[in-house]
Amino acid sequence: MYPFAYTKPADTRAALAAGTRGGRYIAGGTTLVDLMRETVERPGTLVDISGLPLREVQAGARGGLRIGALARMSDVAAHPRVRTAYPVVSQALELSASAQLRNMATIGGNILQRTRCTYFRDVTAPCNKRQRGSGCAALEGYNRSHAILGTSNECVATHPSDLAVALVALDATVHLLGPDGERSLALTEFLLQPGDTPDREHDLRPGELITAVEIPPHPQLMRSGYLKVRDRQSYEFALTSAAVVLNITGGLIRDARVAAGGVGTVPWRLTTVERRLVGARPSERLWAEAAAASADGARPRRHNGFKAELLKRTVERQLRTVGGTR
Ligand code: SF4
Repeated sequence: MYPFAYTKPADTRAALAAGTRGGRYIAGGTTLVDLMRETVERPGTLVDISGLPLREVQAGARGGLRIGALARMSDVAAHPRVRTAYPVVSQALELSASAQLRNMATIGGNILQRTRCTYFRDVTAPCNKRQRGSGCAALEGYNRSHAILGTSNECVATHPSDLAVALVALDATVHLLGPDGERSLALTEFLLQPGDTPDREHDLRPGELITAVEIPPHPQLMRSGYLKVRDRQSYEFALTSAAVVLNITGGLIRDARVAAGGVGTVPWRLTTVERRLVGARPSERLWAEAAAASADGARPRRHNGFKAELLKRTVERQLRTVGGTR
């Protein structure tokens, strides 16, 4: 480890001032400390925001759910309102990382966690995300775990968060606070595809921090769930995953939200699948036909072509689990 400064501000105002001077925010530290040990990241000053009052899980402004950015993953997963109204969120959290990490890691940090691309974490390998313009070792290297959707010629790394997939399916908003005040963005706008600037992963301005994530009210969306497919059953990142939210009333699918993880450079909303579902009657045939569109637009690399078929099967299975069989 190299030398760095550490400060723990007493309040949000002091934290913003330190962040605006170039300090790097840290809370649970479950990603950043690892990256500092590997010298992938070398912040000069750490600004410890773990003491700020941003941990509450409460009703949102319009009746949805507002989750403080510093709420622990394990606390949110166990929260009674999350478990009953948004099982897709609690399931995504419980399938993430290890129990020890879930007890430390925060919701804001989970969304901002950096890719698990092995070349990104190997400072001897070229990586446009770590150093813009240096190249991408994954393009012609071993890319079995990499993305097939939202990729560019500069970067094919997957977004690693399970929670973000569930939140994208629920149309969540990210609340931000910075030196210029507050603003809010849809999570789909906040997280950025790599394009030709893969080092820019989100729309976070200098000094800004996430204060909360808000899920809008979904009074009609009664059923939801998350399925994660991975090489082993614990402490592993997704090869594919599916977050499914359905409103089935009177024998018809009135609303459908489907998002995929493990396959995109950002959590990937499957709008074509959703369109095939809305207005239809649930059936085995419908699940299969809708899921067949899951990998539309995919651009596999040499070792990850299997993800397209695996994604279709993951989505079909989770549609059946959430929507039932008839
Ligand atoms: Fe870096 Fe992205 Fe290429 Fe991985 S896929 S080596 S993160 S540029």
